[in-house]
Amino acid sequence: MSTGPFGDEFNQQTLMDYGFCLIFFLKKLANDATSGIVSSAKEGITLLLQRIYHRFVPRPQRMAVRRARTYLESYRLLGNRFHCPVCQGDFETFLDYGTPPRKNAQCPRCSVMERHRLLWLYLREKTNLFSVRQRMLDVAPVHAIQKRLRKLPNLDYLSIDLRSPIAMRHMDITALNLADQSFDFILCYHVLEHIPDDRKAMAELYRVLKPGGWALLQVPADLNQEKTVEDLTVTSQTERLRLFGNVDHVRIYGRDYFDRLREAGFQVSQDDWAASLDPIIAARQVVRRSDVLFIATRV
Ligand SMILES: [Zn+2]
Repeated sequence: MSTGPFGDEFNQQTLMDYGFCLIFFLKKLANDATSGIVSSAKEGITLLLQRIYHRFVPRPQRMAVRRARTYLESYRLLGNRFHCPVCQGDFETFLDYGTPPRKNAQCPRCSVMERHRLLWLYLREKTNLFSVRQRMLDVAPVHAIQKRLRKLPNLDYLSIDLRSPIAMRHMDITALNLADQSFDFILCYHVLEHIPDDRKAMAELYRVLKPGGWALLQVPADLNQEKTVEDLTVTSQTERLRLFGNVDHVRIYGRDYFDRLREAGFQVSQDDWAASLDPIIAARQVVRRSDVLFIATRV
């Protein structure tokens, strides 16, 4: 008996399981061929290999492979026009991203967007996160940023998410399995607009923040409108995109966002630090100088 390529015992039973899987995939492929979904042998073999890859390689490993591929592909875009402050890469162009696509939005190496680059610059330039010993909670982590924060010797870092494979622990933001008053800093960056019961999530974030602590609770908001537009009964992606600007969002916040945070107990302020960035540097790093950050503190 020996260990198979997927870490399990390679015995007669698993051999039969793989055999049945292969027969299942071949039958599915035959169906696709007869219904016209695949039109050539090359397409058929590609689809078959893709399905086998998705069936047998777990999602975290698939994500690691994709990141490695992105990293290698970024070499063809090296240049001097753009700089990513997160991965320190210099490129001739960034990648377009979004619906509709925004020009030069995404770093071709570490995949961060405009808002993540601003976040990184802010944390680096404006906070003591890189120097003072503290405990940080990161909700729905971004790989490139998490990777760097975890290396900081002064930071006791924990990331959580409902199901993301890169999060250190899985939990629901509306029912945090974390002690009261246990974090100095909470990063919850573009998360609350996805959560149906955002008030409960805000109350939980307040509960786990230490008195004297602070949180960056960023959301997409239209500060020209007074009231938040939300409708939890809208589930169609097209309608969500039309009403809330994203297929996964359940609302777009108005100025009353700050009232919701205050109801949870936070004191709230806005920081327009981005406006103080040198326009040439902001353009080279592709960050929006008009972006305002939402800061919440617990007294
Ligand atoms: Zn980058």
